[in-house]
Amino acid sequence: MTRLTFYIILGVLIALGAAWVVAQPGDMVLTWRSWELRMSFATLAIIGLLYSAALWLLCRFWRALRNVNPFNSPARQAARRRRGHAELDRGWSALALGDEVAALRHARHAKVDLPEENGPLLLLSHVEAEKRRVAILEDLRAKPETAPYALNTLLDEAMEEEDYVLALSLARELTALAPTNRRILKKLFDIEVHHGKWEAASETLKTARRNKALEAAEVAHLDALLSYVQGVEADVSGQRGDALDLALDAQKKDASFAPAAQLAARILLSRKDGGRARKVLEKAWKEHPLPELAELFLELEPMESPTERLRRVQQFIKLNPDHRESLLLLAGQAIEAQHWPEARQALDRLVKEDRATVRTYNLFARLEQKQKKDQIAAEKYLEKALTAKRDGHWHCSECGHQPRHYTANCPDCDQFDGLEWVE
Ligand SMILES: [Zn+2]
Repeated sequence: MTRLTFYIILGVLIALGAAWVVAQPGDMVLTWRSWELRMSFATLAIIGLLYSAALWLLCRFWRALRNVNPFNSPARQAARRRRGHAELDRGWSALALGDEVAALRHARHAKVDLPEENGPLLLLSHVEAEKRRVAILEDLRAKPETAPYALNTLLDEAMEEEDYVLALSLARELTALAPTNRRILKKLFDIEVHHGKWEAASETLKTARRNKALEAAEVAHLDALLSYVQGVEADVSGQRGDALDLALDAQKKDASFAPAAQLAARILLSRKDGGRARKVLEKAWKEHPLPELAELFLELEPMESPTERLRRVQQFIKLNPDHRESLLLLAGQAIEAQHWPEARQALDRLVKEDRATVRTYNLFARLEQKQKKDQIAAEKYLEKALTAKRDGHWHCSECGHQPRHYTANCPDCDQFDGLEWVE
């Protein structure tokens, strides 16, 4: 109703305007060379209107013509769409890689080829949002109060994209702002380790210790791990003297870190220095008994008889007499020396205390075979071993991988210090 009223008023106004124009005296005169065209203003207005209408019709006609254009065949349209979608895909890829300039270029190309579709507009809006987000983060980074937030966000992104060079510089900038923050220091340490920057990593640990950002035991462990990693590197490159010093240094920093003792003992054994190797192994067994340390201990005296070896084992396990690894080592060696009651007693104790594992039942089976030649009893134990609790093993806290041997970086996910011994 309101619209109708508006049109009526508009019609009346146009009619009144036209009547007023017609009622005005005077002519319009156009002269060109000897020609002269004279007409009233109303005639000129009508010609103008007719000209506009003709132009409009011409445009409509041109558009209709374009749709039946032989150059715009279905095959051509399909090719254009394909090109547009390819541009769109390239645009999303560029955006994912953080190249907003390329993303924007592809989005614009896609928009030309896909004028009716929403995909290019969606990509454009994402590119714009990303540009705004980056600009905001840079603004925040410039202000002291918000710089930690911006730097941390940028650092997480750099880590996710595995751009460790950028991550390292961001982490250093962030540590300077928050030198007592445990999480940041740990992150900086991890990146430095990833780069093999051992001295820088060691300095970061010192900062963490000084600022009490990390527990003393954690600092000691990571410090030992740094020495161990350098020791392994030296060992691989044939610098055995340096490797030994570094492994011993690692054991000194963290006596419970058994792999360091293992490396030191292995090098000492290869140098026929059994006396020092034994001391290293004894120190480690006290703190953290591992099957691999036991193997090295048995290798110390290659020429001894099984009974002599059992005597040595009996002394050795006194360092940690109740540990499962001690009882398994004793049982294994007692079987070799045919000291059946001693072997049985150690294994029975593990069963009684509900600490029996796969290796416990395997040793039981071996005992039955060797002592009584009782194959049926042995097989019963082997069957039990199938469902028994697993023995101690390395386990990656990051990805769950369970490698046979220790490495500073998980062999599966590469996490530094990811492996822990699970009893
Ligand atoms: Zn892992």
